[in-house]
Amino acid sequence: MTSSLPRPRKSLGQHFLTDPNIIRKIIALADLRPDETVLEIGPGRGALTGALCRAVKTVVAVEVDANLGEYLSRTFSNVHNLDLRIGDALEFPFESLSAGTVVVANLPYNISTPILFRLLESRHRFDRLILMLQTEVARRLVAKPGGKTYGSLSVSMQRWTVPSLAFTVSPGCFHPPPEVGSAVVKLEVRKDSLIEPADDAHFLRIVRAAFAHRRKTLTNSLRDAGLDPDAITRGLADAGIEGSRRAETLSPDEFVTLARAITLP
Ligand code: SAM
Repeated sequence: MTSSLPRPRKSLGQHFLTDPNIIRKIIALADLRPDETVLEIGPGRGALTGALCRAVKTVVAVEVDANLGEYLSRTFSNVHNLDLRIGDALEFPFESLSAGTVVVANLPYNISTPILFRLLESRHRFDRLILMLQTEVARRLVAKPGGKTYGSLSVSMQRWTVPSLAFTVSPGCFHPPPEVGSAVVKLEVRKDSLIEPADDAHFLRIVRAAFAHRRKTLTNSLRDAGLDPDAITRGLADAGIEGSRRAETLSPDEFVTLARAITLP
């Protein structure tokens, strides 16, 4: 049976990889072992899926587009280690995956940041994540303190993982070509970030509040976010961090210390 190719849907961020060299580079970067499980988000037309299925024990692939799901089921009907799920990755129960799962994905750029946060809520399930992202987002993930690109995404991702930008990919490597540049990042989950996931919401609240007004001092930004002024003063003193500093000068580890020191009533 011939499988007709569903047309790309822009609203779902469908830019399919067509360059075999980039596919090889992504698979090499993932450094997969035959006993591993991979989670692929958005398999699309299966550009990465076949290579992933050849490399590991099981590939769980979550695709929201039912037409593509049908196409993939037909195309991969003889591939027995592909576990295809049709549904929204933002709703997927990542907790059900086996520990040590590797995430490999060319993410839909319109929702890459919420997917990243959802994935990292369940980071104890993952060993490493190899992700194609918009270059601008990739640069924010790896940004160091002091610059304009450094913000709450950099702090949270660097708190939970060790991110590196592996290589960039030009629009011509996709069909249809995206309007923005792309880059592949590798995020190694930090084992020391697995001990306090219950505090993630508090940590994120402090980090986001600190960066909400980049030009203001930490004290003023945290106050503007409605946090209790006494808790801020005590927390800054206990953390040994000057309230006159700006958020972009604090390292991810300093944010961890600060968030631990601020106890809200
Ligand atoms: N992996 C394929 C490739 O590299 O050619 C396709 C990548 S394309 C950039 C993104 C894929 O994610 C599309 O197949 C799209 O349908 C799918 N997608 C978009 N939103 C999704 C969601 N919320 N959950 C799961 N998949 C989604």
